[in-house]
Order: sequence, then C-alpha cells, then structure tokens
Amino acid sequence: MKTIVYIAGYGRSGSTLLERILGSNKKLFGLGEVKFLFNSLMDNDSYCSCGEKILKCDYWSKVIKETNLNDINYLQELERLRRKNEYLHTIIFNNKNEYTEILNDLYKSFIEYTPTETKYVIDSSKTARDSFFRPFILSKNLNVKVIHLVRDGRGCMWSNIKGSNRKIEKGLDPKLKFPSLRTAISWSLANLSPQIFQYKYSNNYIRVKYEDFVENPDKSLSRISKYLDVDLSEQINMLKKQKEIPLGHQLAGNRLRNKKKIILRNDDEWKEKLNLYNRLVFTFFSWPFALKYKYFFNEKK
Ligand SMILES: [Zn+2]
Repeated sequence: MKTIVYIAGYGRSGSTLLERILGSNKKLFGLGEVKFLFNSLMDNDSYCSCGEKILKCDYWSKVIKETNLNDINYLQELERLRRKNEYLHTIIFNNKNEYTEILNDLYKSFIEYTPTETKYVIDSSKTARDSFFRPFILSKNLNVKVIHLVRDGRGCMWSNIKGSNRKIEKGLDPKLKFPSLRTAISWSLANLSPQIFQYKYSNNYIRVKYEDFVENPDKSLSRISKYLDVDLSEQINMLKKQKEIPLGHQLAGNRLRNKKKIILRNDDEWKEKLNLYNRLVFTFFSWPFALKYKYFFNEKK
C-alpha cells in the first residue's frame, strides 16, 4: 500500500523546498498543499508547478475528471466539510466519518494516477489552524508518515511581517494584520498538532529543523532517507552540484516550487531586523515550544 508523506508544522518553514527536493525522487510524488485544492478549483486561478493551470495540467486534469472535482457544487460541499473537520475549532464536532471516507477516496485516486514506481505521495498542507486535524483524519484509513518541519518562529515572524506569499503571488496587498502576535500563537499551534501526532503514532514521525536542513542538507536528507527507506543520494548530489531540479505537479506553495535551480541558504535576515517588541511577543506566547526546539538563545550569525 502506498503511503502519504505529510509535511507538518508552520508555514514559512521551507516545506515547498523540501517537497520539491523529495518529489524529484522517482519513488516520491509531490502533490503540494492539497488543502487548497477545492478552493483553487473553485477560483480556477491557480497554477500547478509544471506551469499549467491546474485544470490543464497533465496530472491534475486526469485526477479531477476521475473524482468529479469539476463540479462546482460538489467542490463547495467538500470545502464546507473540510472546514468543519480540519480546522482547529472543530474539536467540538465529532462527525469526521463522512469526510474521512471522501478524503480516503480522493487520495486513492491521487495515488492511482502517479507513475507505477511511486511509493509515496507528499502532501505539504502543514498543520496551521486551517489544517490542524488533517494528518489525523488521513491516518484513519491510510498510511501516513509525518515529516515535522520546524523553523525558528522568529524567522517565520519576520517573513510574515514582510508579507504573505500567496498574496504576493496573486498581486494583492501582502501585509497581514498583527503579524507578530498572529505568528507567535499560530506557530505554537501548528507545532502542537504534529507533537500530538508523534505521541499517537511515534513510528510515523520525524522532526527536521529548517536551519539544519538548509545548512547541512546531506544530514537531514540522510535521516529522511532512512525514515522512508528511499535512497536520496541523487537528491543530495543535485543540491551539492546545484543541478536543476525537475519540476513536479505541486499545488499552491511558494514561488520556489517552479524555480529550476535551488540554492539552499539559511534565510536569517530576522536576526538583524526583528525588533525587541516582536521578540518579546514571540517569547511570551511561544516559550514552551521555543524551549523544546532550542530557539531561545542560539542567535549568533
Ligand atoms: Zn502539473
């Protein structure tokens, strides 16, 4: 049975990048941030990383036809169910069965259209407020292996202060309201979900730090290689030699998903630019996870 690799954690943590690199291996197929699929199809304004609109993409067009995702009423219903089941506040509801079945069938179709050598499909929806329960729902009927990607919340905060990726891509005003407060709270919650997952399914969990991954990709990829039992030496080599990484069929994600060459570097601009107020907000709201992941003191550039 094929398995879902679920990239969990907060956004702005390098998930698009990690998925691109893993997806370039024949045994792994990157689907992108699948949580946006229903909305993207309703708006019909999003592109796949292959460069085509989703409805025209080789891969997605087949899947969409097979699963009736071209029916706008059905999409609205699916998005309604998704919000009712995946969002953090839905902890008060308990009718996840219907939605679990639907997701199960959808992923079976996603898997069916991947090349035969594919062993894993990757979903990089992460675990922010709007997809807090997603890996748990998927795990009910499918094999799910979580890669929990963690980045220093102060780096995520600085990214958010600069503005939202998706909005920049759509040409909208990228500024968020109360970015530091929002990041501090959301960062902790987005890391709480995969920590609960680890507690429940400890064998299907690995934690990778963004800072380790960009500074020493060999080491992080070797750990992931063992975890998934997939040889990633080609990917390590591609990064080392700065070779072009083939484009996949990732939905959503940031602009890195369709850049041909990827040069890894630690984006630590925040160390110079994040002011004291924002740092205090982070410490006040996020100290338990900041301590756990050792993001308190190691600030030296
Ligand atoms: Zn595509």
